[in-house]
Amino acid sequence: MAYVYDDQNIFAKILRGEIPNDTVYEDDYALAFRDIQPQAPVHVLVIPKGPYVTYDHFANTASEAEIVGYTRAIGKVCAFLGVEPGNGGRGYRTIANTGEAGVQEVPHLHTHILGGRMLGRMLKRFDD
Ligand code: AMP
Repeated sequence: MAYVYDDQNIFAKILRGEIPNDTVYEDDYALAFRDIQPQAPVHVLVIPKGPYVTYDHFANTASEAEIVGYTRAIGKVCAFLGVEPGNGGRGYRTIANTGEAGVQEVPHLHTHILGGRMLGRMLKRFDD
């Protein structure tokens, strides 16, 4: 089944300037802003400007320019936030929650960048 993009989702409204956001980076391909309910001292969302629902939707259908632009934007945001281990940062976690099992709340692709504290294990163990 093909993806159907809902242009009334909250990140679409942010991209259109209908809802305010705390922007940390913007270019032709991506917008990065602070999560409204941060789960770590550093918690930024990076979204592509195009109408993509999930990471697989983006990876399979976006243009090469969009894919490069979005990926580079994530790199620039990591540098801006000072979390890159290769540059003296303590590290971070990127997360793209997807669909029902991934507990995705907003149906516009977004990459969470979390850092500023020890983040613990990636997931609760299956047999915990
Ligand atoms: P998820 O779709 O589960 O990956 O999570 C969506 C994320 O968007 C959550 O961490 C929310 O706190 C965040 N969020 C929802 N609305 C806004 C908003 N208006 N500005 C910034 N972050 C938001």
